[in-house]
Parts: sequence; structure tokens; C-alpha cells
Amino acid sequence: MSSVFEAVKAAVPMRAAAERFGLEVNYAGMVRCPFHEDHTPSMKLYDDHFYCFGCGRHGDVVDLTAELFCIPPYDAACKLADDFGVGDSAAVVRQPAREELKIFREDQLRCQRVLSEYLRLLTGWKEWYEPTDPDAEPDDRYVEACQMIETIDYLTDLLIVGTLEQRVRAVDLLLADGKIDQLEERLRRLRDAAEKETA
Ligand SMILES: [Zn+2]
Repeated sequence: MSSVFEAVKAAVPMRAAAERFGLEVNYAGMVRCPFHEDHTPSMKLYDDHFYCFGCGRHGDVVDLTAELFCIPPYDAACKLADDFGVGDSAAVVRQPAREELKIFREDQLRCQRVLSEYLRLLTGWKEWYEPTDPDAEPDDRYVEACQMIETIDYLTDLLIVGTLEQRVRAVDLLLADGKIDQLEERLRRLRDAAEKETA
């Protein structure tokens, strides 16, 4: 399988990237390190990686690009692909990006669906189980609603109107440790129980 990472690493030599991005490469394949105050070239460019003898920075051509332009690795790989025309003849390189985006959209929609259902439930609980006797122990469902509504409301909004980066982070957070799976399962059980009660 060919990802944009593998493609640019295979196609773009370290030296070519460094020169394109304005670093002056000397006869020994050394450049002045862009990551520390470097008066004499102390960063060595190898075929497939760089290493700075001054500050210890090291990495491959994607890392160099990401750090030079302060962009995430995936964006750096795409920038290299664009700048060096990698994958123009082979559409296969772009395939994983579309594929990843499709998977992300599906995850995002699933998180939206589960959170909206949970939010509706919490809103109902807050209304139905509001304590009538101030001295009595409040119902667990009322307590949960009070604790969670604001957070769930915020996350639901974020998934709809957030920037791509915010949405990616929110989806990652929700999918971590099976959080969404557990919530989905719990909502399903609550739905089943409610149906049985009304039947
Ligand atoms: Zn350095």
C-alpha cells in the first residue's frame, strides 16, 4: 500500500527538499541548522534523514518540512507531494487521504448521532427528575444531567461547526477507550428498557 508519506519519502531526496526550502547546502552536504542559532553549518543531510550536531534535531524529509513550516506531518507530506509533483502520474498516492477522510466522516457522523441522542435524554431527565423536595436525595439521572449537559452540548456543537482540526480532535477523544461504544450500548439498553415499560 502506498501512502502519501511513503511516496514522498521515496521520491524526494533530503537535499532537494532543503534547497527548495531555502537552506544552503555546502560541499559536505551540511546546512546551517534552521532550528537553532547556527553560525557554521552543523546540520548534516543524509539521503533519507537529517541530523544536527549542534542541537540534536533529526528526522526524515517529512519531519524537516513539518518543522520548517510549523505544520502537521500529514500536511507536510502533502506539501512535498505538491511541490515535487509526487503522485501526479499515480493517483494512488492521493487515495489514502480520501479514504482516511471518508472514515473520519463516518466516525464523526456516528459521534454526532450518539451525542445528540444522549443530549436529548439528558435534557428530558433534567426536566422530569428535578427534585420537588429540596431535602430529599436528588435522582441520579437528574444529577447526571446537571453534570453532563453543558459538556455534551459543547461537543455536539463542536462536531458541527468546529474547524477540521477541532473536529478531528473531538472525534479522537470520543473514540478513545471505546467511550462512544459504551455510550451507544448504554443508550440502546435504556431504549430497550423504555420500550418494555410502555409495551
Ligand atoms: Zn540545530
